[in-house]
Amino acid sequence: MRNHQIPKDHPRYLSLTIRESIINGMHNKVVAEAGLIAHGRGEAFDYILGEETPPFALKQERLAVLNLLEAKHPIISVNGNVAALCPNDIVRFSKIVNAPLEINLFYRSKEREDAIKEVLLKAGADHLLGIDPDYQEIIKELSHSRRIVDSRGIASSDCVFVPLEDGDRTLALRKLGKSVITIDLNPLSRTSLAASVTITNNIIRAVPEMIKFVEEYRACSHDSITNQLMKLNNKALLQESLKFMADRLILLSREEKLFNLS
Ligand code: ATP
Repeated sequence: MRNHQIPKDHPRYLSLTIRESIINGMHNKVVAEAGLIAHGRGEAFDYILGEETPPFALKQERLAVLNLLEAKHPIISVNGNVAALCPNDIVRFSKIVNAPLEINLFYRSKEREDAIKEVLLKAGADHLLGIDPDYQEIIKELSHSRRIVDSRGIASSDCVFVPLEDGDRTLALRKLGKSVITIDLNPLSRTSLAASVTITNNIIRAVPEMIKFVEEYRACSHDSITNQLMKLNNKALLQESLKFMADRLILLSREEKLFNLS
């Protein structure tokens, strides 16, 4: 494993530390090579957000949590990037929202499944779906290895939380009538556009914020949750995310000191 020391006073310390987790994940077989490219695409959009959670994303996170709390059989689909970036938070979130974790990979191999399993178990997971061949089912709408799902998990769920997903599978899950919740920094990806709930934020910030929302809503009645759900609209929030990015770029273009970095 690489262990590059990033100086704490580096202006991009956090971003570089997160990048190291992804690179280490690749060396440990948790992250696929293509996962590095996906991460870089996310970093670019995070720059535009200002690398902090904007107000609209908090509303998207609330909408996601309310949907997960209302679901009969919610599931969280985990890939290599999710396992490398926030294993502890995703395990904690799974427990408090009562949604099992299912390992589901585009670049599937026993080696990668085992590596991800190890990371999640170390982070405190006690039961993982998606790895027992006795429970494999096929989503016919898909041609690649992500078509293999767990009959106790994604196959029978009504609501799938799939952070950092690709568009094909999001569309296939929607066609099957499932509600799909995603986290994706690119508001224009096919995943973002096709999901039932899209969170335009970095997963590193989003999941801890969602944990707080679950705690806040835990004591709420079904009626109160339904009431709050009616006040939030996925399409309007996604439109807000694009407008936020566009407005921020225009504001920055007028900021004189931005062009005097020395
Ligand atoms: P699509 O098929 O949905 O059009 P894609 O081809 O970009 O998108 P992937 O590469 O599988 O599909 O998607 C990875 C997505 O995850 C990208 O849109 C990227 O912006 C996003 N992403 C990467 N890292 C993060 C992160 N840390 N937090 C949130 N989103 C991220």
